[in-house]
Amino acid sequence: MVDVLIIGAGPAGLSAAIYVQRSGKKAVCLEALVVGGQIVNTPDIANYPGIKKTSGFEFSKGLYEQATELGAEVEYEKAVSIKKEEDDFRVLTESGKEFTSKAVIIATGAKNRHLGIDKEEALTGHGISYCATCDGAFYKKKDVAVNGGGNTALEDALFLSNYCNKVYIIHRRDEFRGEPDSLEAVKSKENVELVLNSTIDEIKGDTALEAVVVKNKETGELREIPVAGLFIAIGQEPDNKDFEDVALLDKAGYIDAGEDCKTKTPGVFVAGDCRTKSVRQLTTAASDGAVAALAACAYISSKK
Ligand code: NAP
Repeated sequence: MVDVLIIGAGPAGLSAAIYVQRSGKKAVCLEALVVGGQIVNTPDIANYPGIKKTSGFEFSKGLYEQATELGAEVEYEKAVSIKKEEDDFRVLTESGKEFTSKAVIIATGAKNRHLGIDKEEALTGHGISYCATCDGAFYKKKDVAVNGGGNTALEDALFLSNYCNKVYIIHRRDEFRGEPDSLEAVKSKENVELVLNSTIDEIKGDTALEAVVVKNKETGELREIPVAGLFIAIGQEPDNKDFEDVALLDKAGYIDAGEDCKTKTPGVFVAGDCRTKSVRQLTTAASDGAVAALAACAYISSKK
């Protein structure tokens, strides 16, 4: 029996763990993949107040150390259900383990959105990647493409432009969602070409990626671009289906809860990118973690 079971050890989950431990209660995080979540793959973080510049890896490492040195624990398990039993919660994991707690915080973040086109899954790991920081080095001196128009796509393109021969940014509009500074940096690179108002129509290659065929949305024109790598950076999607018994989901699958991080089930809270919200940033994930943790501790105290 732990006080607060936290599902997810990304920035929201680990921030929650820090606040739970500092409140004198025990926190255990269940992590399905990697501590730090998606931020691990970000090469540069320059917008977290108080830290001028760091990498996603360093940031995650710091969070992990801070939480565990305070006594929090991380178990590498994927939670698949939350059941309320009288005053406690029983959380089952994919491997068949069972955890019981007095309160639960869901901090599952979001996973990479896929294009959903032919050969995307088959060629993942054979030219197709969702993480330029992890896989970019395999494409030194080669031509690659990045798909997307957000901060991730711009940062990926900038990162890849340092050692790839040519980087195409394929984006479905002619305006970018990413920060203007990053866009300017990308535009100043001679080896980056913007392919705008375009979507990927086809992926070519049998055992490895050979080319992408893009369709211009205005003219309908098709263009085949030979590339060895395609980095898909078209945003994230939540993965909360397993928890809909205890938490309402909005149309897009995010957990419907306000800034108080409370779900429809007393004792179950939500924090970070998996919650319905308009700004998904490290700062808002950390903020949710603190709010959810303190609410969970107050809930436990109210039960005594
Ligand atoms: P995002 O901001 O949601 O951008 C996703 C991009 O992919 C958009 O340009 C979108 O096009 C495009 N897109 C979505 N679905 C598509 C589809 N099916 N086909 C083609 N294109 C599609 O995602 P993100 O860039 O991963 O960023 C996620 C969050 O993390 C954001 O809040 C971002 O600011 C933050 N972030 C921050 C940093 C940093 O501060 N250092 C770094 C990375 C990410 P439209 O624009 O047309 O919708």
